[in-house]
Amino acid sequence: MERPELLSCRDVSLGYDGQNVLTHLNLTIRAGDYLCVVGDNGSGKSTLLRGLLGLLPPQSGEIWRAPELRRGAIGYLPQQTRAQRDFPATVYEVVLSGCLNQKGTRFFYSAAQKSAALMNMGKLGVLELKDESYRSLSGGQQQRVLLARALCAAGRLLILDEPITGLDPAAAQDLYKTLSYLNEKEGMAVVMVTHDLGPALRQARTVLHIGRGGFFYGTAADYLASPQGRRFREVEP
Ligand code: ADP
Repeated sequence: MERPELLSCRDVSLGYDGQNVLTHLNLTIRAGDYLCVVGDNGSGKSTLLRGLLGLLPPQSGEIWRAPELRRGAIGYLPQQTRAQRDFPATVYEVVLSGCLNQKGTRFFYSAAQKSAALMNMGKLGVLELKDESYRSLSGGQQQRVLLARALCAAGRLLILDEPITGLDPAAAQDLYKTLSYLNEKEGMAVVMVTHDLGPALRQARTVLHIGRGGFFYGTAADYLASPQGRRFREVEP
C-alpha cells in the first residue's frame, strides 16, 4: 500500500515579481519520505522550500498540503545566520518557541507543549543543557537545539535548509544519524537542502536536482547513475 501523501506540487511555478525561478515542477512527498534537494547556488532550492512551507505562493500550478500540515505543522530548520547564533535566550526557551504556531491567542504555553519541548530535548540529547544560554553552545549543540525546536512544530514533516553548514565532521555525522533515526523509527518525512552530497545521498531515498536544463527527480540510486549524479558516486563520507 502506498504511504499517504503529505504534500504535492502539481505543475508548480515559483518565483518573484513575475520572474520564474522554478517552472513545471511536479513533486510528491509521502509520509516517511527522505528527499534531498540539490543544485547549484542560485538554482532555486531555498525558493522551493519557501513554496513548500507556504511562505511563497506559487505563480501557477498548485501546492497541495494534507490537512494536518495546514496549520503551520511543518518543522522547519532554516539556514543559520550569525545573528541567530547569538540569540539571547536559554535552550529551553528556544525549543519551546517551536510551539508558537499552536499557541493561538493564548498567552502562555500549555503543560502539554512544555512536556513536548522537554521530550524533544531529551530525544535530541540536549536536555541537560536546558538552562544554558543558547549563544554559549557549540555549533553542533545549537543545531540539535534548533532541531528539537523544529520537532515541536513538526507533525510528520521536517524541512531543513543546509543543516550541516558550519558543523565539524563529527557533529555533521551526529546530525545525520539523528535524522535517520527520526525518519526510520518515528516515520518523520524529511526534506533537506544540502551541498554535502556524499553522506546525504546515502541517506536519502529520493533526490530532486534542480539544474539549468530541468529537474532530475527520482531515487538516490537512479540519481547516482544519471549524468548529473555520476560525479558523486565516488564521494567518500
Ligand atoms: P538557492 O537556494 O538554490 O541558492 P535561491 O532559491 O536562494 O537559490 O535563489 C534562486 C533565484 O531567486 C536567484 O536568482 C535569486 O537571486 C532569486 N531570489 C531569491 N530570493 C529572492 C527574493 N526574495 N526576491 C527576488 N529574487 C530572489
